[in-house]
Amino acid sequence: MLSLNDLYRGFRDPEVIKSLAKEIAIEAAKYSGKINIMEVCGGHTHTIMKYGLNQLLPDNIEFIHGPGCPVCIMPKERIDHAAALASLPNIILITLGDMIRVPGSNGNLAQFRANGCDIRPIYDPLDSLTIATDNPDKTVIFFAIGFETSTPMTAVLLDQAEKRNISNLLFHINHVLVPPAIDAVMADPRAKVNAFIGPAHVSVISGAKVYRSAVDSYNTPLVVSGFEPVDVMESILMIAKQKAQSIAVLEIQYSRAVSEEGNLTAQALVNKYMTIRPSFRWRGLGPIPDSALMLRDEYSHRDAEKVYREQLPDREIDDHKACQCGDILRGLSKPKDCKVFGRGCTPETPLGSCMVSSEGACNAYYRYSGVTE
Ligand code: SF4
Repeated sequence: MLSLNDLYRGFRDPEVIKSLAKEIAIEAAKYSGKINIMEVCGGHTHTIMKYGLNQLLPDNIEFIHGPGCPVCIMPKERIDHAAALASLPNIILITLGDMIRVPGSNGNLAQFRANGCDIRPIYDPLDSLTIATDNPDKTVIFFAIGFETSTPMTAVLLDQAEKRNISNLLFHINHVLVPPAIDAVMADPRAKVNAFIGPAHVSVISGAKVYRSAVDSYNTPLVVSGFEPVDVMESILMIAKQKAQSIAVLEIQYSRAVSEEGNLTAQALVNKYMTIRPSFRWRGLGPIPDSALMLRDEYSHRDAEKVYREQLPDREIDDHKACQCGDILRGLSKPKDCKVFGRGCTPETPLGSCMVSSEGACNAYYRYSGVTE
């Protein structure tokens, strides 16, 4: 039986990758134009940079990095919400991973924590249940972020809180959706994307069906891809073949986990507790209609945005003037185009969210491209 290490070794086999690169070159040569592939998800950006896949491709294929990093797209005003909530008496704010380091307009959450706010970064959202039951005299607020991948976990958390009658657990919901972000990218007249690599984990939940309208509307190939380097190279080959044949269809490379319909049980649970938010402002992309979720009215008592409406700042905050995260998230610039990349902005001293997150494009370039400025 194959061990996990053996299995991964297969997905990272240099000989397989080189052989796929040769096949890609043959197919890409049959296409007269440029193939501009947006990898929507930051996880793919990291695979591409970590394994140097961009260096293995013919000149007429270019990667364009997309908006699929939940930390990167969080606008400052939502971080300001988190900071305002954490600053209230008797509040414990719970946040996930990198979120604590993303700059808001008055500093990041790590700085608020250093100044005495009870802010707890966790890796498993279900830990919030324990924190809430251990602190019955406090209100615990889960600052929920993520794409379709992580939304079911928030729904499970809420489901458990309801079933166990844990009334001091509230939610600040920042869950966003991939298909409206693709629409926003393509609505920009400057967009030069003509193919997509679709996110893997999101699609496990949502199913590949959610991309069908994008493929039809923009006449662009879209291949749902796994995160390993062989997965990504195979997906590029599938796109190159489509381009060579002048067709644009939806394909699933990551068929070992993604189906057309997705996880219907997870979708039903999310649908029970959440509904579409009419508009959500994305960092870099601006307000996008129907691009995020919010709690249903029946659960308003758990919605920190409603319960603490009077205490939350109500203003939109732009990024630092030097930061080009907006153009990077729109696929219009690369990290190295930013004048402060690797100088004023590093993973240790990030000016923008794309440098903070482990899924951010600037972070990936800094770590893997060997070009730090
Ligand atoms: S290098 Fe830093 S400042 Fe420049 S775009 Fe990236 S995150 Fe923003």
